Amino acid sequence: DVPVPGKVSTRYDLEKETELRFEVEAGEAVEQVELELLTGMAEVFGSELNRNKKYTFGAGSKIAVFTWQGCSVNLYGKPEVAYVSKDTPMLLYLNTHAALEQMRKQAERDNERGPRVMVVGPTDVGKSTVCRLLLSYAVRVGRRPTLVELDVGQSGVSVPGTMSALCIERPADVEEGFSVQAPLVYHFGSTTPGTNIKLYNKLTSCLAEVFSQRCEVNRKASVGGCIINTCGWVKGSGYQALVHCASAFEVDVVLVLDHERLYNELKRDLPHFVRVVLLPKSGGVVERSKECRRDTRDEKIREYFYGFRGVTFYPFSYEVRFSDVRIYKIGAPSIPDSCLPLGMSQDDTQLKLVPVTPGRDLTYHVLSVSSAEDGEEGARKGIVESPVCGFIVVTNVDTQTQVMKVLSPAPRPLPRHTLLIMDIRFMDMK
Ligand code: ADP
Repeated sequence: DVPVPGKVSTRYDLEKETELRFEVEAGEAVEQVELELLTGMAEVFGSELNRNKKYTFGAGSKIAVFTWQGCSVNLYGKPEVAYVSKDTPMLLYLNTHAALEQMRKQAERDNERGPRVMVVGPTDVGKSTVCRLLLSYAVRVGRRPTLVELDVGQSGVSVPGTMSALCIERPADVEEGFSVQAPLVYHFGSTTPGTNIKLYNKLTSCLAEVFSQRCEVNRKASVGGCIINTCGWVKGSGYQALVHCASAFEVDVVLVLDHERLYNELKRDLPHFVRVVLLPKSGGVVERSKECRRDTRDEKIREYFYGFRGVTFYPFSYEVRFSDVRIYKIGAPSIPDSCLPLGMSQDDTQLKLVPVTPGRDLTYHVLSVSSAEDGEEGARKGIVESPVCGFIVVTNVDTQTQVMKVLSPAPRPLPRHTLLIMDIRFMDMK
């Protein structure tokens, strides 16, 4: 182990089935922490570590290095916390993976489809981490599972405010997570399902349909099944959305993390053939503050435009004439039932495309570029259910000249001219 210049190094010898947990302080100008496996074998959320390679973790990282057989590792730098825990639910998670793998084997034999799994629970119980673990384990035994990301607040796949699906072809990178190539992404537009639950359910159904179509033509995808990550909102309409998702995807297994009431409710409300399993959360999962969540969201958008770690992107900034684009918001503000036009229901208003007149208040908003074909009225119908092909941010609006300036990952012109506005804003401080 070659020391990292200027950094203290601390060695940890881990017994089998224990984990080293550490956190890197949040904020700017924080010293990164490096991790190196010296002897034995270890993994980070399901991805194996290579020996004598230094993995770097930046501000705000919360990591667990787990070992099945025992190992020793070095940490370089000063983590905010670092401790070894013997008390982890990893064995239960591994057993869950083994059970899912049995289902895949059976699916292969009987020419059926593999397990469709929904992971649910309140916020900060480690849902995303369990998804990552199960996906990485599946891919390590040669499967091709699909990650369905329905957490509109903290998406692991795309920018916040989206719902997406991603075919997993290799284990998550220890430092960077899953490689995101060609995900299928839909525009939701805000960070909580509650702002438009009808749209949320509709897009869940769209994803389920596309996934099922893919399974019909791709045997590996069908056998691999899917792991669905959900939002932490588990009451009222949030709960109904989970029930809807279970039915849309025809899930076979629901993993409930650390929430007995939710477990009992789902057992009561889902068909009897759905296996509902209660799993403990890991003591290592760290609660994140509102600010922390907001920072993570901001970071996700920044990454989209500027890249991440080793990969730097150079986004473009150019002007777009109002007359060249059509901007919509999905969902009209709800009005009392008594005021609705005859024959119209609240559902219709929530899925309605409302044209947005560009004004100064558009500044900083994230806009999704719809993949829907440009065209007049007729084409409007499919917009809500069309995936998006990218995102731009409005950086300036000039109402005099009827022009807005946008930040875009690709040079002009825009690939399509139908834009959907998000509630989410991004201020580019670079
Ligand atoms: P959720 O999806 O339920 O909101 P996450 O899976 O995103 O929760 O986990 C929250 C945070 O806790 C993440 O930063 C994750 O890296 C961290 N974390 C999860 N499991 C562990 C663990 N065993 N030890 C240390 N940190 C962990």
